[in-house]
Amino acid sequence: MDTKLGDYVIVHELLHFSVPNHGKLWKMLMRAHLGEWEKLEKRLNGMGLLHLADSSSTLHE
Ligand SMILES: [Zn+2]
Repeated sequence: MDTKLGDYVIVHELLHFSVPNHGKLWKMLMRAHLGEWEKLEKRLNGMGLLHLADSSSTLHE
């Protein structure tokens, strides 16, 4: 797997320890850590991996 995509999954989940949703703060922190995270999310979505990444979190919108 592309290293960046792995980073996306890890950062995504780690941020949920402090931000339990995908609100403005979460998006701001995603950008601070990953830059253009929306592109990574799209690629993961295309691979069918996004849902897998999120299934470990319980507090989603
Ligand atoms: Zn999430």
